[in-house]
Amino acid sequence: MSAVYLDYNATAPVRPQAQAAVAEALAAGGNPSSVHAAGRAARARMEAARAKVAALIAAPASTVIFTSGGTEANALAVESAVASGSRRLIVSAVEHDAVLESARASGAEVEVLPVDAEGVADLTWLADRLGRRNGDDGRPFVALMLANNETGVIQPVAEAAQIVRAAGGWLHVDAVQAAGKIAVDSRALGADTLAISAHKIGGPQGVGALTFGPRATLVRRLHGGGQERSRRAGTENVPGIAGFGAAAEAALEDLPVASAQAAWRDAAEAALLDAGATVLGRGAPRLPNTLCVAMPDFPAELQVMNLDLAGVMASAGSACSSGKVKPSHVVAAMGREDLAGCAIRISGGWATSAEDWNRFVEAWIRAHDRHAARRRAPAA
Ligand code: PLP
Repeated sequence: MSAVYLDYNATAPVRPQAQAAVAEALAAGGNPSSVHAAGRAARARMEAARAKVAALIAAPASTVIFTSGGTEANALAVESAVASGSRRLIVSAVEHDAVLESARASGAEVEVLPVDAEGVADLTWLADRLGRRNGDDGRPFVALMLANNETGVIQPVAEAAQIVRAAGGWLHVDAVQAAGKIAVDSRALGADTLAISAHKIGGPQGVGALTFGPRATLVRRLHGGGQERSRRAGTENVPGIAGFGAAAEAALEDLPVASAQAAWRDAAEAALLDAGATVLGRGAPRLPNTLCVAMPDFPAELQVMNLDLAGVMASAGSACSSGKVKPSHVVAAMGREDLAGCAIRISGGWATSAEDWNRFVEAWIRAHDRHAARRRAPAA
């Protein structure tokens, strides 16, 4: 039986269209900064991709900067805000480490925006906090992701934007997980900066983008040539960017297919709830593809290993990093420290079928029953 891949939030399989675009760009070669025919063709390829990436997030193409991924896009936003005078950064408790650690490394003070039991940011806290700013804080900066990588919980970003804007602040939105799974309109959301990543939507790894609005001034993090309108030096990753563009185009077309995942996810969720599991973020709006489920007394690592043995790939904790399983800060921020070591994430995507979700449920129930029986058995 073929393996079932249900870890799209870690990385999505590369779409055939993206594979073809990468291969074509590699074969064609050319440096977009060269003025000869090969250079002009590479530039045209890159600008076509920029338009497609911009369309996915409803941003003007001229405001899209290509980066080496979601991590760099987030870092660029945080460091730009600090360079523009933000001395106290407010970041939600459930942000990805790319945002949390960039904020901590920035030299500015970091304050954590709490979330409720469903993982939704507390906007009353935010309004109150921004209302009590003092002169030392500089320009307010708030990072609130659009959708969480572990739970799929969607944040009230447009409402947060109104609060941040009223305070004259800068709202950064990490839309790395939301893009390609739900419609993302960076301007309607009121984002001053918004980050996305190719490999989460079926493009290649190592390429991402940041879009910025008129109230955000970006710094130059990499110095050298005048690429990306002098905002990011270095010869562009044209094959990666071409793949990103093709994936963005396909992901936009596929949005209705992406939303169909919700019914399959919900059926799987119902089966696990029946078995006594807890679903995190179930009471909040969520991405259609993501299920974060915790089973007390069944460690996440054991769940994932058992699923893997049954040919089903899922992940535990913030599995983006290094294959190590660490207790989830997201689950802990939701007040469920008790579940932080036993929550796993199942996430489907463009090539996932209803059958894949069924295979996951069967494998999980079998593993759980075996584990429960072992725990009940008297020690020899
Ligand atoms: N932001 C979120 C919400 C993510 O889930 C990830 C990756 O898992 C990133 C940022 C980092 O993106 P990249 O892997 O492209 O650096």
